Amino acid sequence: MITGNDPILLTPGPLTTSPATRQAMLRDWGSWDAAFNRMTQTVCADLVEIVHGENDYVCVPLQGSGTFAVEAAIGTLVPRQGCVLVPNNGAYCARLIRILQRLGIAYVELPLREDEPVSAAAIEDAFNRDSRITHVAQVHLETSAGLLNPLDDIAALCQRHGKSLIVDAMSSFGALPIDLRKGGIDALVSASGKCLEGVPGMGFVIVRRSVLDAAAGRSPSLALDLQDQYAYMQKTTQWRFTPPTHVLAALRCALDQFIAQGGQPARGARYMRNCAALIEGMTALGFEPFLKPAVQAPVIVTFHAPRDPAWNFADFYTAVREAGYVLYPGKLTQVETFRVGCIGAIDANELHNAVAAIGRTLACLGLSVK
Ligand SMILES: *Cc1c(COP(=O)(O)O)cnc(C)c1O
Repeated sequence: MITGNDPILLTPGPLTTSPATRQAMLRDWGSWDAAFNRMTQTVCADLVEIVHGENDYVCVPLQGSGTFAVEAAIGTLVPRQGCVLVPNNGAYCARLIRILQRLGIAYVELPLREDEPVSAAAIEDAFNRDSRITHVAQVHLETSAGLLNPLDDIAALCQRHGKSLIVDAMSSFGALPIDLRKGGIDALVSASGKCLEGVPGMGFVIVRRSVLDAAAGRSPSLALDLQDQYAYMQKTTQWRFTPPTHVLAALRCALDQFIAQGGQPARGARYMRNCAALIEGMTALGFEPFLKPAVQAPVIVTFHAPRDPAWNFADFYTAVREAGYVLYPGKLTQVETFRVGCIGAIDANELHNAVAAIGRTLACLGLSVK
């Protein structure tokens, strides 16, 4: 799937995109151009359809990286007197807490280990302990370790308790099944440059129409006001403020490929094959995955660093990069790790080759893994 000599990004975004997606950026669009604005509409409609949002949900696109959209969703959708429960098993959960702190919104943290998915029972206990809680901000796939949280159980629980659920589905959207028809989810946040295999530069929020309508005038931020962004788009068909034209054109093209390849089930299946090839190959080299298979999502894999005292991630990274593959540092607080992504326009063949390159690099640097 790759052409040319560019390195393959084994990172969770930016990631390796297909040549067609890159080519879609070779023309300029004006923000008044009706064809561009129609493209925005079809992208939004397709994004809603991927998670079966049907008529109850709308998609609000937003300029910026994924965090901009997360902050916009929280700032727009949570009333100032609300209180948000944040199950915390990694850096992206911790980022939600920092956003809530900046916004001055009350929150309750549910601390977890970085290899421990949250359970619906633990969330229910938190509801019972603290009646202030009105919302849950849940990271679906904690990209810090690659950990999968049980979204369906959490959504069902929130629905039963009448709590509003906002999901950071940044690194799961498009790859893992999410079905809004099951109920319980008020908003899902993701971005162009993750499992949809577009380029980075825009986020989007799929939000229950009634929840968005009720949020008029609430956001303390002008640029991150999702309701205003949506209302303006409805009125004018245009983006409020300069749109990320090339990013949107690339996402349109990436979505065409996503649909042609078989949609979410096919995307998820390819990533599963990539992940299996990666873990199998790395295990054969002596590396040990940080997570147990049952909680490992097929998006990014955290490996323990070799115990060899000569180990140094920066040197290893540089050597593997020279062989054509870009790895990712670990993001865990307690243990020395590094990460390898299995998403992007790559298949198991590239992962086999990456593992072979890692094996050669180890030999070259004289590192032992065990
Ligand atoms: C990538 C990611 C984000 C957004 O990060 P940005 O650097 O702002 O794109 C948020 N949450 C999760 C779980 C992610 O993987």
